[in-house]
Amino acid sequence: MMKPSPPAPSTAPLRLAILGAGWAGMAAAVRAVELGHHVTVFEAARTLGGRARGVALALPDGREVMVDNGQHILIGAYSDSLRLMRTVGVDPDTALLRRPLALQYPDGSGLALPDWPAPLDAAAGILAARGWAWRERLALLRAALGWQRAGFQCDEQLSVADLCAALPQRLRDEFIEPLCVSALNTPIAQSSAQVFLRVLHDALFSQRGGSNLLLPRVDLSALFPQSAARWISARGARVVAGQRVDALHWEAPHWHIDGQPFDRVLVATSASNAVQIAVQSAQAAAPSIANQLHAWAHGAAQLRHQAITTVYAQAAAPARACARPCWRCAPVWMRRPSSCSTATPSRLPRSPRACSPSSSATARASAPRCRPPSPRRPRGT
Ligand SMILES: Cc1cc2nc3c(=O)[nH]c(=O)nc-3n(C[C@H](O)[C@H](O)[C@H](O)COP(=O)(O)OP(=O)(O)OC[C@H]3O[C@@H](n4cnc5c(N)ncnc54)[C@H](O)[C@@H]3O)c2cc1C
Repeated sequence: MMKPSPPAPSTAPLRLAILGAGWAGMAAAVRAVELGHHVTVFEAARTLGGRARGVALALPDGREVMVDNGQHILIGAYSDSLRLMRTVGVDPDTALLRRPLALQYPDGSGLALPDWPAPLDAAAGILAARGWAWRERLALLRAALGWQRAGFQCDEQLSVADLCAALPQRLRDEFIEPLCVSALNTPIAQSSAQVFLRVLHDALFSQRGGSNLLLPRVDLSALFPQSAARWISARGARVVAGQRVDALHWEAPHWHIDGQPFDRVLVATSASNAVQIAVQSAQAAAPSIANQLHAWAHGAAQLRHQAITTVYAQAAAPARACARPCWRCAPVWMRRPSSCSTATPSRLPRSPRACSPSSSATARASAPRCRPPSPRRPRGT
């Protein structure tokens, strides 16, 4: 990600093509326009935002509602994303609901951080965590201090399960695992400890409010990509939606897309799409370029992926509202006060303060209310 700094073109303006109008592509486009380059964004889909986009869903009764492509939560530590939103005219204070981090269960046990400077908030939250034995709180505090002393660095081969093996089982089940799955979308045995430590550092140990949960009040396309597209278009850039780029054609000294010449091309698609583009582009390229493209594609093709399942369910009947907003329901709850739903029950296996599943689609359309939180599952199940 390019660093925030005052626009200062270091080269003559370039003709830049960006493939993909997900958040990465649109972030790059905004920065390139700030730097004075001539930008064209090509997006295969008709909607901007990629994986983090709004999706129009038809309800069984025929009504159409906007939902998100899965539950997305930002955290306060996403300072570059927040800066980009401000740049393109989105006010994060109104577009996002900011809640202090609370990983609590319906009986009130678990972690809730006070609104204090970091890392005092984390230390106080751990010491005050309800339902945890002193032995467990001190073990987590000791581990956190150890990670801080090591500069949040560890052996790159370690998994989160390895990193936390010495922590009491309860902490691993009720704190580390839900946090890891929600942050990295990967079970602790397969998640990189180094990446997890980076998340902990940014969220809990770097800045006040870094661990706050930021819950979108508007759909994900409106939250950034559409505003970014308007902002760059007003400055002479082009956003071409509904145009997949299958291959780039090299005719020295330019890359060509649909006959248009570009000085540089930035591929901001998923790795698998980028591999396809590289392989296709290599076919007609000179051997020196083709070899580089094949080498890159070979490396990128080794990346393994894990699907995230999003379930949209519709509640049959209104039920009692949550006494307090739960973070999982909040994206919908805050859009329509007194309505509540969960969109991705698969993401956090033991959701603190979770309401019974209904859907963002349903909640936005007919404002069903949350059922009371289901009883805590017995440990070990
Ligand atoms: C269900 C779900 C929940 C998630 N929850 C969170 C969360 O809570 N917090 C969080 O931070 N992250 C979350 N993520 C991850 C986040 O969505 C992604 O990391 C992020 O959206 C990736 O953005 P990107 O721009 O790199 O790629 P993408 O969003 O994949 O964008 C790539 C774009 O390139 C386009 N494209 C592909 N091939 C071509 C081509 N040949 N020509 C032109 N265009 C092309 C695609 O259509 C797409 O629009 C979640 C992801 C999912 C799926």
